[in-house]
Amino acid sequence: MIPIAKPYIGDAEKNAVLEVLDSGMLAQGKRTARFEEEFAAVCGVKHAVATASGTTALHAALLAHGIGPGDEVITTPFTFIATANSILFTGAQPVFVDIEEDTFNINPELVEKAITPRTKAIMPVHLYGHPCEMSDLMGIVKRHNLCLIEDAAQSIGAEYSGKRTGGFGTGCFSLYATKNVMCGEGGMITTNDNEIAHRCRLLRNHGSERRYVHEILGYNFLMNDIDAAIGLVQIGRLGEFTKKRRANAQFLTENITSAITPTVRQGCKHVYHQYTIRLDNGRDRDEAVRQLNQAGIGTGIFYPTLCNKQEFMVERGYGDAYLPVAERMTREVISLPVHPQVSQADLELIASEVNKL
Ligand SMILES: *Cc1c(COP(=O)(O)O)cnc(C)c1O
Repeated sequence: MIPIAKPYIGDAEKNAVLEVLDSGMLAQGKRTARFEEEFAAVCGVKHAVATASGTTALHAALLAHGIGPGDEVITTPFTFIATANSILFTGAQPVFVDIEEDTFNINPELVEKAITPRTKAIMPVHLYGHPCEMSDLMGIVKRHNLCLIEDAAQSIGAEYSGKRTGGFGTGCFSLYATKNVMCGEGGMITTNDNEIAHRCRLLRNHGSERRYVHEILGYNFLMNDIDAAIGLVQIGRLGEFTKKRRANAQFLTENITSAITPTVRQGCKHVYHQYTIRLDNGRDRDEAVRQLNQAGIGTGIFYPTLCNKQEFMVERGYGDAYLPVAERMTREVISLPVHPQVSQADLELIASEVNKL
């Protein structure tokens, strides 16, 4: 079976972990600090703050912007649940708006229509590694004086008009095992704002910068140096990883003729965290998945259920939002293996099997 995701773990990653273990210094330390510096450089921002996960990065970023009870945060329903959950953790309300059919990303026109006096922030998700329509979103943020928190969990290295995602507002990344750059579990917050970076550093460490002085109510959202050591090796491989993902995607797009292949908007650079096709015209997606799996091709459905339709969200009153495009996408999308370890023979099999659907 060609797996839908497979983390690349080379000798450098293994040796880096052993080095940390031999040092006996396992907690957040100098490797985390170095990882933050390199991450910030890769994203073209002043600060990167490492956290325990992408989820805790989102949570801390929202809190650092002062978001809490009584506030509304506009986001997409077509994402991993962590996006919406992080908003609920703060006591604020997620407001779900529909997406664009071609990029699967939040629709800026609908964002502007959803703004109320309570709206405090927009949380777009650069889904599958394709940047959101940032010029429109930045315009809305400026006109309405809102915070911008980017869920960039899937988009490390992606560019919009020559600028990398995570550098438009406060960026939140995930380093979970299947992400383009990974360390097992981990996250990163990116920002050019000194004050936001400072608050994130406090929030991740029980409100403390100096030992046993706790300035605010904080959390334990710390990364450890074992994960940071892996992340440091991986971030050095980002260029090579992304190049391979793009080449794999290009082959699939050139050779798949029987399904809708991913769009790349003018001025955007996609990093293909997922390569996601659509079966339109009501074709049976479950049957297609069965056929592909039978042929030895791993698949993923990201995502089969909208965030606002999960049971606990429905109980909280979010179930009735009108989201026809996103609803349709939950039935049409199939993600195919595109990661750097997919071989040329794998790609040929994938394209020919998809064309038999
Ligand atoms: C992976 C992911 C997250 C959460 O990251 P974790 O590191 O698993 O906590 C959040 N949002 C999106 C879009 C993701 O893909």
